[in-house]
Amino acid sequence: MAFTLPLSRGVLDTLAPARDAIDPLTLLAEGPGALEGLVEGEVRELRPFLVDPAGRLAVCAPTRGHVAVRREGAAVRADADTPFATIPDEGDAASPVPGAPDGTGEGEGEATVPGGAQDPAPLVLWHPEVRVALELAQGSPSAMLMGRTRGGVVHVAVKVADPLERPGVTWVNLRWCAHLLSDDESAVAAGAVALVNWHRQAVFCQRCGRRVTPTSSGWTTTCPGCATIEYPRQDPAVIMAVLDHSDRVLLAHNSAWRSGFWSVLAGFVEAGESPDRAVRREVLEEVGLAVGEVEFMGAQPWPFPRSLMLGHLARLEPGAAADIHVDGVEIDSARFFTRAELAEEISSGRLEPPGPTAIARAMLEEWYGGPLPESPRRIDPLRQS
Ligand SMILES: [Zn+2]
Repeated sequence: MAFTLPLSRGVLDTLAPARDAIDPLTLLAEGPGALEGLVEGEVRELRPFLVDPAGRLAVCAPTRGHVAVRREGAAVRADADTPFATIPDEGDAASPVPGAPDGTGEGEGEATVPGGAQDPAPLVLWHPEVRVALELAQGSPSAMLMGRTRGGVVHVAVKVADPLERPGVTWVNLRWCAHLLSDDESAVAAGAVALVNWHRQAVFCQRCGRRVTPTSSGWTTTCPGCATIEYPRQDPAVIMAVLDHSDRVLLAHNSAWRSGFWSVLAGFVEAGESPDRAVRREVLEEVGLAVGEVEFMGAQPWPFPRSLMLGHLARLEPGAAADIHVDGVEIDSARFFTRAELAEEISSGRLEPPGPTAIARAMLEEWYGGPLPESPRRIDPLRQS
């Protein structure tokens, strides 16, 4: 099966040379021609989307055109946790059309399929008209150039002061719904959320303490006092599927998690530490097990607020006993599961597995050999918090 990571799938050209050359709001106002001579290749369209100061995104249900494509693609997306209840009927004239956000009908017929027809998505970022995006940006002149995706589409994230309410538009937390966006929109959204969360935390200069200013189209901050330039940070974290000698997988419940939610172990990489050493240390600290072979599986950003998740398969050291001793502080319960046991626990609702956007889910399904059974405890993908 494919090892699919919803926040790592897209194809994105960052257009880094343009970041210092033009302000993103000026770019929106002037149109695609403003990038001429600044970047190589075609720019067909500028597409703004909105993010609020908490890192939530404005999304809407696909238009009729999207629905038709989605239905054609239903067979390949049958496992998606879709908010289909929010998708209007085909005859619904009031359906939210990207390009006509204010309900005036302007822009009708301009709706496009993000990522192209090969890439059907049950959910799309809300793309207000450029005029509307510029109006909304007035209260918070902070925009970020996110790059170019397939088809020559350039994306600009506009940070708005408040999550304004519009019919058909929902503000969501990307961590619950990234799997419902197209590959390219998911990548663009992950970058915007990462930048907004970074700007919220990196307010003061680390050298002289003055308040910094966002620069380079949102990709740096600059200190007006000492001219120090800072770049966005990601904290590396290891996450590991630990297997015992019978190919059972270890799941644990963290004392900070809601009751019934179980996942694989994870922890931050410490200063001066390599990821494989971090895997062995974390497993020993949290459940008292000695790990031998460690194999890298894949990675994806987790910008909530700024982790980079490094997925590993970890096998118990040959001959080591599978005796679990939880640390009792971070981890309060842990056990090994066969595939049949895990399926039964999930189907019955006794155990809630990691959600479909998390690398932990992909790692578990890689071990399981296919999609995990449906959980009656499924989280609403349009959650805001
Ligand atoms: Zn400074």
